[in-house]
Amino acid sequence: MHVNYVQSEASGHPGYGHNVSSDRLSRYRAKRDFRRTGEPEGSDGRSGPGLLYVFQKHAASSLHYDLRLEIDGALASWAVPKGPSTDPRAKRLAVEVEDHPLAYGGFEGVIGKGLYGAGAVIVWDTGTYRMVHADETPAEARERGQLSVWLEGEKLRGGYTLRRTRDGEKPQWLLVKRRDEAADARRNPVSTQPESVLSGRTVEDVAAEEA
Ligand code: MN
Repeated sequence: MHVNYVQSEASGHPGYGHNVSSDRLSRYRAKRDFRRTGEPEGSDGRSGPGLLYVFQKHAASSLHYDLRLEIDGALASWAVPKGPSTDPRAKRLAVEVEDHPLAYGGFEGVIGKGLYGAGAVIVWDTGTYRMVHADETPAEARERGQLSVWLEGEKLRGGYTLRRTRDGEKPQWLLVKRRDEAADARRNPVSTQPESVLSGRTVEDVAAEEA
């Protein structure tokens, strides 16, 4: 499986995501000082064929997993404190946060002390996704508060539904595995597969390397 993160502007793909207004990323940029953090400032553009799916593991002041889904040329993002489950009976809180640039999907490193989101980040899982219901767009489904996606990652596959349960400044959603052939109550990839799918490193490795 191969996902292009970087050749975004070059790889034109008709249909969606060409012109992200800088407004989409204004909250992302306002929280960060790009002279001090290694995180991408981000440019608008495409990630390549297929829609990008990413789960980053982020050892911030409280450890969490950041789910990112490419929607209209940026990464819609949710912070999932417990990370994803492959058990359809498990409901995982997912707090919607600001959109991130597509380039963020390939970011691993340490966000320095005192900065927003300080701590180590790895790409815990990535791949592509498509809509479970092909008759709606990701943007429509997100707006409606019910987003069902079919993930083609390395650790996570199959259907997941995000359902918004509370509006507000940081809307709350629940992330639930759909009942399909990839559902498996015995797996627990968050604990058994802690390493990056890009580099094989854990957040502890990354923190130690960059200390
Ligand atoms: Mn985070």
